[in-house]
Amino acid sequence: MTTIAERLQAIQRQIRAVKRIDTNPTLVAVSKTQPAASIREAFDAGQSVFGENYVQEGVAKILAVADLPLEWHFIGPIQSNKTKLIAEHFAWVHGVDRLNIAERLNHARAELLPPINICIQVNVSGEASKSGVSPEEVASLADAIAPLPRLKLRGLMAIPAPAKTETAQRVPFKILKALFDQLKSSHPDFDTLSMGMSEDFKIAIEEGATMVRIGSAIFGPRQSPNTNMEQHS
Ligand SMILES: *Cc1c(COP(=O)(O)O)cnc(C)c1O
Repeated sequence: MTTIAERLQAIQRQIRAVKRIDTNPTLVAVSKTQPAASIREAFDAGQSVFGENYVQEGVAKILAVADLPLEWHFIGPIQSNKTKLIAEHFAWVHGVDRLNIAERLNHARAELLPPINICIQVNVSGEASKSGVSPEEVASLADAIAPLPRLKLRGLMAIPAPAKTETAQRVPFKILKALFDQLKSSHPDFDTLSMGMSEDFKIAIEEGATMVRIGSAIFGPRQSPNTNMEQHS
């Protein structure tokens, strides 16, 4: 049987193999639905950056492995009543797509902690996706978020809808990269393009990803995606 350590090493090798000269992509290991024991196993294999989608589940695991020096990324949909917990426990938040959420995170972030690193989620799949700000609105949202003192605006993220061909799959990545390059000139802290998951991380890196979020290719199939009702509450 393949272990988490072996799969992690295989992914690291694949990332290095497609690496562009100008990027050195960070691997966020997406541990949603996986037990804390799997996080320890991945840490023992050299992984220290992890992503979670569900607030309660994520915080419970963060506390369970609080003895390890890990960096936690919140990558799930953000409900406004969960912003305080997110601001208390996570170093990064991907998936910010409205000012109200950013303001709440800013307000809730303790002075003692460094600013939260923020990626704005962009809807690069049009009708096929409900979350994310539209490409037309991303510049004004970035301008509104940038001055918030407890946040550090690092870049953009997207979850493109699956496409039928590789050529089609590259289109949303190209759109996001172009937006990123445009905004970079007016946002000095912009250095992160968070795109690519288990199925498409290689082409995402080829298209300029600086951060990939990979779950099932490291941890295997998710344990029980439907038992967590938080998303729907
Ligand atoms: C679940 C999830 C991932 C990881 O997906 P895999 O296909 O398991 O690699 C990445 N990003 C987001 C936002 C997710 O929800």
